[in-house]
Amino acid sequence: MSRNTELFERACQSIPGGVNSPVRAFRSVGGSPRFIKRAQGPYLWDADNVRYIDYVGSWGPAILGHAHPEVVKAVQEAAVDGLSFGAPTEAEILIAETIVARMPSIEKVRLVSSGTEATMTAIRLARGVTGRSKIIKFEGCYHGHADSLLVKAGSGMLTFGHPTSAGVPPEFIQHTLVLDYNKLDSVEAAFKLHGTDIACIIVEPIAGNMNLIQPVPGFLEGLRTLCTQYGALLIFDEVMTGFRVGPQGVQGLTGIKPDLTTLAKIIGGGMPVGAFGGRADIMEHIAPLGGVYQAGTLSGNPVAVAAGLTTLKLLSEPGFYERLGAQTQKLADGIADRAEAAGIALSTDHIGGMFGIYFSERIPTSFAEASSCNVERFKKFFHAMLIKGVYFAPSAFEAGFVSAAHDDAVIQATLDAAEQVFAKQ
Ligand code: PMP
Repeated sequence: MSRNTELFERACQSIPGGVNSPVRAFRSVGGSPRFIKRAQGPYLWDADNVRYIDYVGSWGPAILGHAHPEVVKAVQEAAVDGLSFGAPTEAEILIAETIVARMPSIEKVRLVSSGTEATMTAIRLARGVTGRSKIIKFEGCYHGHADSLLVKAGSGMLTFGHPTSAGVPPEFIQHTLVLDYNKLDSVEAAFKLHGTDIACIIVEPIAGNMNLIQPVPGFLEGLRTLCTQYGALLIFDEVMTGFRVGPQGVQGLTGIKPDLTTLAKIIGGGMPVGAFGGRADIMEHIAPLGGVYQAGTLSGNPVAVAAGLTTLKLLSEPGFYERLGAQTQKLADGIADRAEAAGIALSTDHIGGMFGIYFSERIPTSFAEASSCNVERFKKFFHAMLIKGVYFAPSAFEAGFVSAAHDDAVIQATLDAAEQVFAKQ
């Protein structure tokens, strides 16, 4: 038996499903998850010492490649000075100043320890500031696992959501409206009906949790206009896209300013960090200044902040995003070309260091279209690539990530593997 399988069986004895976050269990693709021993640059090594080219990158944070020496050094140095104080540090000011300087809409920012905490608190803040209860989210967007956000779309416009998770009382989600991504009409209709009750819209401004789905022209602009018109707040959940699609997130690419932004992943450089920030007048409603409560024992943890700050510093090197974008494009275009040559219905999309692979003739623009891609084909592709030493996300509905360590040789090795895999599909 392989060491991975042995570890998985053992893990299942003491950890539900053998994993600490569900997608890791390979349930949707089948087979045993790989237990990772070590990671360096673009590579992972599993418990059987098999090396993989990694396109998951810890689900986004590893934009510099794994275990970047400067980030590791910063973590080691911070750790020597103490792991956690529960009191403020200068490094927290530095990372806050960096985020404020780079993210166009953020004037003040509060650190938390995960993306879930960031979105959960941003929603509470929006409700606290507006005094309204309803929120709008979009089908297929994931904003962490807070109760009111764990809602799948109901049938059609203005349907109040049903929880996708057991354990969420209907009362907790009765204020969550779930609408179709990229369908501005339904948002307009929702505001016409409930405008004065809607506290906020939360949106992945480029979605990465139903595979990669980009906003159609006018969608984000329309959300901004409607929020302004009805006095609701616009929250960009840039947990994934922040510092990933470009140096200033989606707000930098589009020039659209949300009222609040949530961040995580890259700003922690692989350590647990999240953040929410935005207009100063809104952020001042947070405790201790205002009446909206939020706190965290490990918020602004010095070791995590050291990793995040060093990561953000390295991202600001000239040409970083141009190079990252070029490598991502080589991968996405190369996979599409090889599929086409093999007569396989596949399309790809990419932006910054993020990409999508769709077993479909067309790039999807909605959850429904993303769901109709050929999942069986994806599963075969996933496992065949894994055997060839390429690790994609173990789900057809996740975006992929390229890092600065994915050089030409790494991309070429991936494309060669894909060519061989497509030839047999
Ligand atoms: N928002 C988005 C857009 C995400 O992609 C994620 C995680 N993938 C979250 C929120 C939740 O973040 P975390 O897993 O750090 O709680």
